[in-house]
Amino acid sequence: MSDASTIAAITLPPELRPRDGRFGSGPSKVRPEAVAALAGASRSYLGTSHRQAGVRDVVRRMRDGLRELFALPDGYEVLLANGGTTSFWDAASFGLIERRAQHATIGEFSSKFAAVTAAAPHLEAPEVVASAPGATPVPCYADSNVDTYCFPHNETSTGVMMPVTRPSGATDGQIVLVDATSGAGGLRVHPREFDVYYFAPQKCFAGDGGLWLALCSPAAIERIARVKASGRWIPASLDLSIAVEQSRLQQTYNTPALATLFLMAEQVEWMLSLGGLEGCARRCDESAATIYGWAATRRFATPFVADELARSHVTATIDFEAVDADSVAATLRANGIVDVEPYRKLGRNQLRIALFPAIDTSDIEILTRAIDYIVERAGPQHP
Ligand SMILES: *Cc1c(COP(=O)(O)O)cnc(C)c1O
Repeated sequence: MSDASTIAAITLPPELRPRDGRFGSGPSKVRPEAVAALAGASRSYLGTSHRQAGVRDVVRRMRDGLRELFALPDGYEVLLANGGTTSFWDAASFGLIERRAQHATIGEFSSKFAAVTAAAPHLEAPEVVASAPGATPVPCYADSNVDTYCFPHNETSTGVMMPVTRPSGATDGQIVLVDATSGAGGLRVHPREFDVYYFAPQKCFAGDGGLWLALCSPAAIERIARVKASGRWIPASLDLSIAVEQSRLQQTYNTPALATLFLMAEQVEWMLSLGGLEGCARRCDESAATIYGWAATRRFATPFVADELARSHVTATIDFEAVDADSVAATLRANGIVDVEPYRKLGRNQLRIALFPAIDTSDIEILTRAIDYIVERAGPQHP
């Protein structure tokens, strides 16, 4: 039995080092080509007004690119504002939920949004459909007592994905909000199945955090206008009616991070060049087959999510047995392979590995061999 310090001393041979060692689930790998493009444009772009054409053209590229990537039907709009997904939850609790929401909670992130609407004094207590972490997710169900359904496309804390479908029997007046922060761009989705599909750039879009984006159906745009007209107090920075106005002008209400917008626009165009959403989803499928296929043939590794259909194709969680996953992660880190540690609060002997489109499947394959190498040399341990 070897302790963590011995195994951290293992040096991986060059052929077991991925081309890029970033496997984090957010912030995630940023493509060097996008950073080079930003450096190239920096003199004319960074440090210039976000109210002028130079920056607004980048926002336009990004919004048009997202419209194409997700094949948005006429009438759907791409909104953006500062603050990331967490701010979007607050904005939604002010500007999208009318009276009462229903949440399918399947882990930390989906539970956090449910906690937001539960705490909002202007809303009724939400209905919560909870699934245990890692279990097959129980979807939202039609209920005339709610006006909004909320669920994640991919629960990043556990590596569980669920299909984006309107609850059967949901009525026209009810809207569906999907937290696609880590799923958008890597998992297939049909726009008719959601009213709001929201995300941030630091996962599949290989950019930086601090921004939120939301693909909105006409029903969602109408809901935003209706809630605003009701006279509810809404802080301006969280006011979605202001986000609608500003987004239509290719702007944000207050100053955005210009590098973030640029990296996002670059990534959306790169994703389109891969063959759009289908091309991206196929890359994620291949990476998922690689990592789960490897785990299936290793005595010490098991996918955390037992249900194959719920096993995420964008964030894989692999349980370890008789091998200390923390030590493996520390050894990988010492060798320049970073951020495969599990989501802390889940408290499992596990590695979590992002499979986002920017991450090469060949690097996932090398990572599995690097883990084998470490485990072989470290021998069995007891976490
Ligand atoms: C990362 C993540 C969030 C939080 O995003 P922030 O931009 O950091 O607020 C929310 N939901 C899911 C599913 C996530 O993966």
